[in-house]
Amino acid sequence: MAKFPEADARLFHNIFVCKKCKSKIRAPNLKVFAGKVACRKCGAKALRTVRKK
Ligand SMILES: [Zn+2]
Repeated sequence: MAKFPEADARLFHNIFVCKKCKSKIRAPNLKVFAGKVACRKCGAKALRTVRKK
């Protein structure tokens, strides 16, 4: 549902979703892939990228 690239980047770039509690976390890609980012709500390290449907 992206209408223009700027909004797309703002909404999806460096945003991850906790697989456990579904909360959104904004963090740098590299830190997430290095396993250095944990959900601030439940502490889970299982994060996934936001996917548009
Ligand atoms: Zn969580």
